[in-house]
Amino acid sequence: MTPSSTPTLATPLRAALAAALVLGALAAGLSGCATSGVNQGDVNLVSLEEEWALGRKLEADIARQVRLVDDSSIVGYVNSVGQRIVRQTGMAQLPWEFHVVADPEVNAFNIPGGHVYVNTGLIAATDDVGELAGVLGHEISHGVARHGTEQLTRVYGLNILAGLLLGNDPATYERILAQILGTGAIARFSRSAEEEADRLGVRYMYDAGYDPNGMVRMFEGLLSRRRSQPSSVDKFFATHPLTEERIRDTRNAIAGLPAKSGLISRDAAYQSVRREVGRYH
Ligand SMILES: [Zn+2]
Repeated sequence: MTPSSTPTLATPLRAALAAALVLGALAAGLSGCATSGVNQGDVNLVSLEEEWALGRKLEADIARQVRLVDDSSIVGYVNSVGQRIVRQTGMAQLPWEFHVVADPEVNAFNIPGGHVYVNTGLIAATDDVGELAGVLGHEISHGVARHGTEQLTRVYGLNILAGLLLGNDPATYERILAQILGTGAIARFSRSAEEEADRLGVRYMYDAGYDPNGMVRMFEGLLSRRRSQPSSVDKFFATHPLTEERIRDTRNAIAGLPAKSGLISRDAAYQSVRREVGRYH
């Protein structure tokens, strides 16, 4: 299909804006000061509406290719923790969905359009709900900061408008879908994206009433698992670079929060969810 047959996106204003954004991104990249922030001037050519539409399409295709858990006691629990965190974000008004994948590998991922996936293997590897909330807080923050569509903008630039989002570029769409299915993410997140997801995640957890130290325990558990059973965390580490430095920064961010009583780390219902996921392995 030729560009002239997609008049809705060919408005001069939008094209000019898009070109300016791309030039800005190139300039920022060249000067080494490209940043990633929640609506802080990052280049993202994808509107929220377009992102949510892309997410619905990806979600439907992922559902056909992975084994999703439909046990409501498990999915309902993960969803309740996730929604509680989402309510603390600037995207609380959008429909987020939490999915549990029957897969013993320890992994979780976010795709555009408010979809967060957690493997049963990750739930089994946690000790308490604070650790699950830590992973969800981190993944939700990638979504709130729109790291996935920022990355798509970086990789595909203006082509994303004419092709991918209108469904005119099935090859690119299939490549993105295959990447998500193969690696559990749109792409390997940058260090700055990881740091931002940690920082936001700590804040959202705390605001939601979860003890943010759960994120630190989760990260430490992942690092120690990489030493003992590296293949069980391959995908997670391939897409989320995790270092001791990030853990230290997360600890520091937590130390800067005002004291708050009653933050949740454990609850009895989570222990039964943990036992139930064992049926899938
Ligand atoms: Zn990450």
